[in-house]
Amino acid sequence: MIPPIASRFVAGESPATAFDHARRANEDGVNVILNLLGEHYRERVPADEDTATYESLIADIGASDLDVCVSVKPSQLGLDVGEGVFRENFRRVVEAGREHGVFVWCDMEDATTTDATLDAFEDLAREHGGGVGQCLQANLRRTREDLDRLDDVPGKLRLVKGAYDEDESIAYTDKANVNEAFREGLELLFSRRDGGIAVGSHDPTMISYAKELHAEHGGDYEVQMLMGVREEAQRELAAEGVEVWQYAPYGDKWLSYFYRRVRERKENLLFAMRAVAGV
Ligand code: FAD
Repeated sequence: MIPPIASRFVAGESPATAFDHARRANEDGVNVILNLLGEHYRERVPADEDTATYESLIADIGASDLDVCVSVKPSQLGLDVGEGVFRENFRRVVEAGREHGVFVWCDMEDATTTDATLDAFEDLAREHGGGVGQCLQANLRRTREDLDRLDDVPGKLRLVKGAYDEDESIAYTDKANVNEAFREGLELLFSRRDGGIAVGSHDPTMISYAKELHAEHGGDYEVQMLMGVREEAQRELAAEGVEVWQYAPYGDKWLSYFYRRVRERKENLLFAMRAVAGV
């Protein structure tokens, strides 16, 4: 069982607990993106198993009245085993989404995976005319060109700052430069796309900037934040009429995800220490 300390960031271990969480978030006007925890499989079997789990999760979401979609990780669907395995499994998940009316997002992992991920996304999005969305990382120097390339691709694009430590030759490593690249990425998205724009950030400055760009250019957009991070702000934005999606991971592989959340921010670390100390 997930200890209470981790349950701030993880929606339980089973689809049932994840659905309970989603129902509560939906009641507050917040939509939910479910992610089954799992990544970097070196063998095909677990990648195929997670693909099958996503297929049945999607069927259950489709049969429910919840505002829920899913987000997969390339290495969870077998990218470390081979690009062909990833493409096959990604296609299965997207086709299940299409069958049951459930949107499918694809996360972006480290820079060695960017080409394979974007190629698979572009092919599926063009083939299906939407129903699938891709995350892009503002910290990568290439992202401006990737946004050009994906300009007319159907589906949605989620811009994030980027969670992976990358070499300076391929990435902005200074916070100010990443923020500048994020702003430029938002400008490109809002000035060119009619909609399907997702702002994946907790940063109030970036969310305000997205609102300004929306007022200037129009185009449907949504704000995406993680479960357990600025949840009050998520509810407030939803109450203002902004479309908010909360990324909520679930599953038994929660420990490394929880450590990542705790390590990335001093406040989260203090929260974890207080919970352990019982204060
Ligand atoms: P930061 O630069 O971390 O923080 C900026 C400001 O935001 C802070 O000064 C503070 O005001 C506010 N803030 C941030 N965190 C907190 C907090 N815990 N409590 C209170 N205020 C806070 N990365 C990838 O590489 N690939 C992905 O596929 C991916 N998917 C993501 C999906 C979603 C929905 C989200 C939200 C993030 C995703 N990320 C992904 C992570 C992302 O790249 C960043 O590492 C992460 O979001 C932190 O950057 P930030 O924009 O939130 O702001």
